[in-house]
Order: sequence, then C-alpha cells, then structure tokens
Amino acid sequence: MFDAIVVGVRAAGAPLAMNLAREGYSVLGLDRDTLPGPPRPAQALTGHAVHRIQRWGLLEALKATGTPPMWKLTMTAGEGLVELPFRDDVAAYCPRRDILDRLLVDAAREDGVEVREGVSVTGVLRDDSGRVTGVEGVTSDGTPLREEARIVIGADGRKSRIAEAVQARTYNELPGRTCCFAGTWRNVAVEGIEAYFLSRRAIIVYPTNDGITSVSVIFPNEEYERIKQDVDTEIERTLAGVPGLALRLRCGKHEGSWWGHRWPGAYYRDLHGPGWALAGDAGFLKDPILGQGINDAFRDADRIARAIHQSFSGGEDLDGLLQSYQEHRDEVTRMIYQASDEFAQLLVTPSMLTSIANYADAMLA
Ligand SMILES: Cc1cc2nc3c(=O)[nH]c(=O)nc-3n(C[C@H](O)[C@H](O)[C@H](O)COP(=O)(O)OP(=O)(O)OC[C@H]3O[C@@H](n4cnc5c(N)ncnc54)[C@H](O)[C@@H]3O)c2cc1C
Repeated sequence: MFDAIVVGVRAAGAPLAMNLAREGYSVLGLDRDTLPGPPRPAQALTGHAVHRIQRWGLLEALKATGTPPMWKLTMTAGEGLVELPFRDDVAAYCPRRDILDRLLVDAAREDGVEVREGVSVTGVLRDDSGRVTGVEGVTSDGTPLREEARIVIGADGRKSRIAEAVQARTYNELPGRTCCFAGTWRNVAVEGIEAYFLSRRAIIVYPTNDGITSVSVIFPNEEYERIKQDVDTEIERTLAGVPGLALRLRCGKHEGSWWGHRWPGAYYRDLHGPGWALAGDAGFLKDPILGQGINDAFRDADRIARAIHQSFSGGEDLDGLLQSYQEHRDEVTRMIYQASDEFAQLLVTPSMLTSIANYADAMLA
C-alpha cells in the first residue's frame, strides 16, 4: 500500500509526485507511455511556471538542457503591439516537451518516486463506502496490475481515465476553437516569444533547444481537416501576412514535418472526491493560445501536494483542503480562461492586446 498513486507522470503528475516524495511519502507514479517518449514540440514556460521550477531546485537543470532564456514577449494585432513585462528576474523558457518531461520525471525518481512506465490504468478500486482506495490496470506485456493507496491522483491529461472512473463533474465547458500546426526552423533570428494575431489566424514563434526556432500556426478548429490536406501552402499563405517574419524564416531552413493538433474544447472539473484528486489537464483545460497549461499544472502540483501533506501529517480534513484549493484555482484562472477563449476566436483587436497586458500579472508575475 502506497501513500499516493499518481496516474500520468508529466507536467502535472511528475512534480506532484516529487513534492509528496520530498515530504517523505511513498509514491507510485504510473504512465502508459515510455517516458518522455519521442521529440515533441516546444512549449512556453513563463512567469509562475518558471518560479516553480526555480523553487523546486530544477532551474539549473533546465538551463543545462540548453533551453535559452528569453526576456521579451511581444504580441501584435494589426497596428497594435504590446510587450508584456517580465518581473523578478525570471526569464521565460520554451523547452521541447520531451526535454522538459524527462527533467521532471528524472527529478521525481531521484526524490524517491517509484515510476512505472508502460502501465495503462483502466479503473479505480473502491472500498464498501465507495471511497477510492487504489487503481487497476495492465502493463505493456499484458500483466494485470492492482495497487492500493491512501489517495489516487489523476494527472492523466484531458482524456483522464481517473476523471471518468470517479465521474468527476465537469462545468463551465467551452467549445474547441482552434487547431494548431507546429514546425521547426534552423538559423532564424528570434529575440523572444513573438505572437502575431491576424484575421482568423495566429502565429507564435520562439527559440527552443539546439538552435531551433519553433513556429506554431493557429487556425479555426473547423478548418483542421481542410488544412491537413496541404499544410505547407496554408502556412505559407498565413506567414505572408507578417512579411518581416516571413523574410526571417526564408533566410533560415525549415526542418521536418508539421505536427497538427485539433483542440477539443475547454472545461473545469471538480478536482477531488473521497480518495481521489485530479491535477493538470485532467482537472482544468483551456485553449493553449495563451500558453498557460503548464503553469496551471505546476500550481496543482504544489497546491494538491501541500493539501495532502497537511492532511496526512496534521490530520486536517483533506476534502475541505482540496475544496478550498478548487475554489482558489477557479478564482485565479477565471480571467485567463475567458481571455484564452476570446483570443482563440482569432479575431484579436489592438484593444484586446491592451487588455491582455492587464492579465500579465496573472501570467508572468
Ligand atoms: C498544441 C499545444 C500547445 C500548447 N502550448 C503550451 C504552451 O506553450 N505553454 C503551456 O504552458 N502549455 C501549453 N499547452 C498545454 C500543455 O501541453 C498542457 O496543459 C500540459 O501538457 C498538461 O500536462 P498534464 O501533465 O496535465 O497532462 P499530459 O501532459 O497530457 O500528461 C498526461 C500523462 O498521462 C498519461 N496517461 C493518460 N492516461 C493514462 C492511463 N489511463 N494510464 C496511465 N497513464 C495515462 C499519458 O501517457 C501522459 O503521459 C499546449 C498544448 C497543446 C496541445
């Protein structure tokens, strides 16, 4: 019997498991993938997310991966241009996701988490009162698995098996607005994170590991199937809307193929119940256009681990602590949730850019 089982060991699950292990708890991390898996597109870590990486003692390890620090984040829409302020000497970083995930899972293991890969969790175990007491699943070689714990945390992403098994309530749902194609370039001059909002299109560019520049082009959700038929032409047409950027990209070299993703929609879920909790995308999903998902996953990793520790060590009521955190999460993410949905409609005006500068405290402070 473990103190905690964490299902899904990436942006939310790995640091949550690590935080619990650091408090001395026995933690089992289960993931159906081989971690971190093949190279995956880079994602932006800003503000609070970087603060947390630093507080967890992992910033030097992140820098050692060769992920460049960035001090500039600009957003452009028509004639409007805003530069969001960075504070507290904390830069932004845009690591390739597999590089970030490797760093997080290694840190969890080093701190004592038992991580088992290639394990698909299929359901939860319950006692006679209905309280969740563990998980069941199957390993990649077909061996059934049953493990018990005082708490089960579903950090298993947006198609969360744990959320489904416990029938977590979903609320404030929004439709999927965007789809995105991410590609990589070499030898392109980019100073920081650059976001361009065009009519029904957006382009986000940033430097990542190994001298690579990541270019993500965002389209309305309903155009996904059509664009997939001829991604290069559609992207070239969109890039032509930002001639200065198109020129810089032409001076560099496009490598590899496009990685396409259609966004399914946005939601909040109840993040706790008897014997279970949800972290990261499993509990709260928003359109990634403002790049806040990892920030939210990291906050869950800190706050859910803290609630569990307060309860296990001090006898406080865990459901009460997690309920307070759920209310806090919903409150601090309310504006960004709404702004993500507005930006995802891809009709961004200069005045919307000005208003996003007001959210910068929530995103970057
Ligand atoms: C195109 C795109 C761009 C994005 N850009 C950014 C960005 O720039 N900045 C940012 O902060 N966020 C960004 N995000 C959001 C970010 O990727 C997510 O918020 C983040 O990955 C959530 O982490 P997570 O750990 O909750 O889930 P995930 O990263 O999805 O990890 C879930 C894990 O659970 C495992 N799992 C699932 N089901 C099971 C099961 N049944 N049994 C065992 N294991 C299971 C999976 O294998 C996986 O490893 C972007 C997302 C997309 C799609």
